[in-house]
Amino acid sequence: MGDSQKTRSAKEQGLLIAYTGDGKGKTTAALGMIFRAMGYSHKVGVVQFIKGKWKTGERRFASSFSQIDFLTLGHGFTWESEDLQIDKKMAQAAWAKSKQLIESNQYFLLVLDEITYTFQHGFLSLDEVVQTLKLRPFQLTVVLTGRNMPDALIEMADLVTEMKLIKHPFDHGMPAKPGVDF
Ligand code: ATP
Ligand code: MG
Repeated sequence: MGDSQKTRSAKEQGLLIAYTGDGKGKTTAALGMIFRAMGYSHKVGVVQFIKGKWKTGERRFASSFSQIDFLTLGHGFTWESEDLQIDKKMAQAAWAKSKQLIESNQYFLLVLDEITYTFQHGFLSLDEVVQTLKLRPFQLTVVLTGRNMPDALIEMADLVTEMKLIKHPFDHGMPAKPGVDF
């Protein structure tokens, strides 16, 4: 294989990216990549494993583009939830859909937002997620977000960034702000 061919195939290879840590910026960094990929007319997808109280700005925005499939399939935050069994079912449904999107070979970029919380609660098999990510289409980039990223995913990822909390207005009683936080 000539050098230029090697370079091209390396350029086409998708990455596994993980954004973790306690500071703000994990989901928005992933959405920034979505924004960037859409600039090249790539097909992109987001699966959100947690659904907050609000219809977020990103969900509103995404609904006007056919290039992006934006799915919020998780249940509410666990601390808002009354029934962990329902949360588990919804997490598994979100994973089943994610797996389908990964294996469809239709996407340039997929974001699995807040997938980590499903491992903390034992809702999903980490092994199954690792295997599916390993066998994903060559050109597919997957971004995982969430606090407490499991070691197996950190080891496997090509790129890991930890958002470090230095200051957050929430600590000074500032409420979450539409257009900034959701
Ligand atoms: P963002 O979606 O703004 O990029 P994130 O994905 O890094 O944030 P999450 O852990 O998913 O953070 O939390 C989601 C919500 O909690 C967001 O509204 C975010 O602003 C807020 N948040 C993030 N970090 C903190 C923090 N350290 N203290 C309080 N609230 C936070
Ligand atoms: Mg987030």
